[in-house]
Amino acid sequence: MDGPHPRSAGPSRENGRVSDFPPYPSGLRLAGRRVLVVGGGHVAQRRVPQLIAVGADVHVVSPEVTMALEGLVGSGEITWHERPFEDADLDGAWYVIAVTDDRAVNDHVSALCEARRLFCVRSDDATLGTAWTPAIGREAGITVAVVGNRDPRRSASVRDDIVEALRDGTIAAPHHRDRTPGVTLVGGGPGAPELISIAGRKALMAADVVVADRLAPRELLGDLPADVELVDVAKLPRGRSAQQEEINRVIVDRALAGKRVVRFKGGDNFVFGRGFEEIIACREAGVPVTVIPGLTSPVSVPGVAGIPVTHRGVAHEFAVVSGHLPPGHPEALTDYDALGRLNGTVVVMMGVQNAPLIADALVAAGRPASTPVAVVCDGTMPTQRTVLATLETLEKQLVAEDVKPPAIIVIGEVVRVAHPEAFAPSANG
Ligand code: SAH
Repeated sequence: MDGPHPRSAGPSRENGRVSDFPPYPSGLRLAGRRVLVVGGGHVAQRRVPQLIAVGADVHVVSPEVTMALEGLVGSGEITWHERPFEDADLDGAWYVIAVTDDRAVNDHVSALCEARRLFCVRSDDATLGTAWTPAIGREAGITVAVVGNRDPRRSASVRDDIVEALRDGTIAAPHHRDRTPGVTLVGGGPGAPELISIAGRKALMAADVVVADRLAPRELLGDLPADVELVDVAKLPRGRSAQQEEINRVIVDRALAGKRVVRFKGGDNFVFGRGFEEIIACREAGVPVTVIPGLTSPVSVPGVAGIPVTHRGVAHEFAVVSGHLPPGHPEALTDYDALGRLNGTVVVMMGVQNAPLIADALVAAGRPASTPVAVVCDGTMPTQRTVLATLETLEKQLVAEDVKPPAIIVIGEVVRVAHPEAFAPSANG
């Protein structure tokens, strides 16, 4: 290069490809600014009220205007220049809308605008304009603008759907100014992002700080606004109690600093989620807490795998057990003798490692060794699979199928109901 001229890397206007590019949406703040509308027919009549609504100083140039526009002139909401367009009409204008029914006039206006670097909307041929009018909606203080590549019906229908979703809360539009600080425990459900509750999703999107677990539905974190502080518990120092103390400290500190904190967990925060320890820590610090329950995995994961935890005439109770400590461990609280006497369903969580010992303990306490077992791995995730066994063959099957956590182990006759092909009919039915 031989001079200081900036080099253009963009598409040139001449190569005919400019129209392939999408428009760049912009929120023009037109209040008090002069907007020139050339033409006074029905298209002008449709555009003008939206301009008035944003406070624009609207000037209409046209020998004639519709009755509706005349009304707006009469009420002083717009200025009407009752004559044909003159070049000087562009003086002082920020934005121009050429909507006459005379193509030559529109051509003239848009050519002048191009020369003056004024953005101009063309009603007769949108491709000739330098700006497009989006389908506009307003709800909950939010302006929605949809540009549907010159398919106005399509953009209007998308606009309607968005406005409706804002209205009914399907799309959360939290107010970031007048929000009370505190901690919200949000249960994220078993893993698939659509299985969080509407309230949970809203709380997540309104958070300033999100403290998330390894098993919390990760995909939802990708949708968080960029300014949200994300604390990944998996990255905190290890050691069970040290880690929990650190979590308690983080959520309390942030809430006391005026932030909205979401404690985001897989499933439900109160099912082996240490949620109540966090509540106690908040209470001691005077921090308000809200609880939004989640679909808990011991019920929902078997459910998506087609296994009911209860079934009429088969299982009239289900017990959910943590298997993270083996039976007989001095700190284990579960009474396996009592569980072994149960007729209903036993659901074991965090139990992959101790499953063989748990199966032995249940058989020793009276459960038939032929009791059906289903192990559902990665429930609701694309890698979900079910491994079938009996209490007797569980250990062998877990090794053969290389089962890794997270997995839910369902033990009981409900598994036979769900998988009659895999098991002989039970002795008592
Ligand atoms: N609070 C959670 C459970 C946390 S304990 C809830 O309510 O679901 C973690 C255990 O949950 C895992 O070891 C596993 O047994 C189970 N789990 C959670 N999500 C799971 C999933 N998607 N598939 C299979 N098991 C899951």
